[in-house]
Amino acid sequence: MAKKISVPRGTTDILPAEISTWQNIEQITRKLLGIYNYKEIRTPIYEETDLFQRSLGQTSDVVNKQLLQLAGDKKEGFSLRPEGTASVVRSYIEQGLDRKEALSKLYYIGPMFRGERPQKGRLRQFHQIGVEAIGVDSCSPYLDAEIISLSVKLLHLIGLEGFELKINSLGTVEDKNNFSSILKDNLNDKRKDLCSDCQDRYDRNVFRILDCKNETCRDIVHDLKIGNDYLSDDSKEYFNRVKDGLVDLDVSFEVDEKLVRGLDYYTHTVFEISDSNLGSQDALGAGGRYSNLVKQLGGPNADAVGFALGIERMILALNNPAEDTKTLEVFIIALDEKSFKIAVQLADALRKEDIQTDVSYRSTSLKAQMKFANKINARSVVIIGEEELKENVVTFKDMESSDQLSLKIDNNEFSSVIKQIKERE
Ligand code: AMP
Repeated sequence: MAKKISVPRGTTDILPAEISTWQNIEQITRKLLGIYNYKEIRTPIYEETDLFQRSLGQTSDVVNKQLLQLAGDKKEGFSLRPEGTASVVRSYIEQGLDRKEALSKLYYIGPMFRGERPQKGRLRQFHQIGVEAIGVDSCSPYLDAEIISLSVKLLHLIGLEGFELKINSLGTVEDKNNFSSILKDNLNDKRKDLCSDCQDRYDRNVFRILDCKNETCRDIVHDLKIGNDYLSDDSKEYFNRVKDGLVDLDVSFEVDEKLVRGLDYYTHTVFEISDSNLGSQDALGAGGRYSNLVKQLGGPNADAVGFALGIERMILALNNPAEDTKTLEVFIIALDEKSFKIAVQLADALRKEDIQTDVSYRSTSLKAQMKFANKINARSVVIIGEEELKENVVTFKDMESSDQLSLKIDNNEFSSVIKQIKERE
């Protein structure tokens, strides 16, 4: 027997039985984001590797360990996108969106790729819903509050409850440097007790220590007292206004002074949404403000804020949404070659009327085909055979009431069948 080929490790097939959950999430997202005046943007699923290195930071795990690079002939190389922000900002700059609108409110829904060790809730190809608001002079605490409340509203509409929202402020780049120094000072005498990764992180990106899953590191982090003295007065004031904005919008949150996010580009507000029912991979989504990324990638002095939510995690948190039940409006069974010709024409006529129709292409007995019609939950069955053709009729069976009747089809005119089906809708 030929060797079977499997789906690549860390990726999954999304089968027809699950698709309505996905489509439902996508529809709710598109509708809500439309209401908030966000427009969809679609960028390629791969970009120059340099884009991710320059935006996410060389020391982030996503760039350092997880970039899936494509073999290509270009010297700099391409990588599958591990997240969406860098691509959106690249496009914003390249397409000159800043010259077209003061604030670009953009969203995307699509696959992301990270070479991670797969486990429950952690895939190599996963899907994100991402939102980015980018614009010159758009550093407004009201916009931060809007974006955060939008992510919470979206999760609620999708049917999730009981998740937690944590927020923090990293302040400006200068404040962030202060924060980094305070962390280093506090960790200095415990440095040798940190895991080997964190000893390395101490020099390269000390913030990452706060996210380490190693138990000893977690204990050390737990005992750290950070406060918010690293923030300038202006940054504190900005953060207070974000918090007030959230209270005004009825969003519950907790301030977590150790929340930093692993990517270099964040400044000021950062937030994370988690659901403890998800186990170790408990993050549903995260985001924050990134004041310097657009400029850093060669664009105008535009500020930005955004978030990304993981669709697979949402579906896990929905806790086994019901499998789709299949239904079919009309199933046509032709009993011989001649009847097939009529069956196909009838199917065409019904489909033109937007009536969901399928034809049985099997040549088993009528009994077997009726059993199959039951299995696929056909609401009605049309049977065409020698007898029917002689009388210029088709046999119509309502599968719910079991009523059966003959319907005329003069000169391949199917109006009586169409009428019958429309009447029962
Ligand atoms: P991040 O950019 O890492 O903050 O990711 C944002 C969201 O995407 C996370 O909160 C998760 O919901 C989801 N996510 C990130 N990485 C993965 C992954 N490897 N597998 C599944 N979902 C992921």
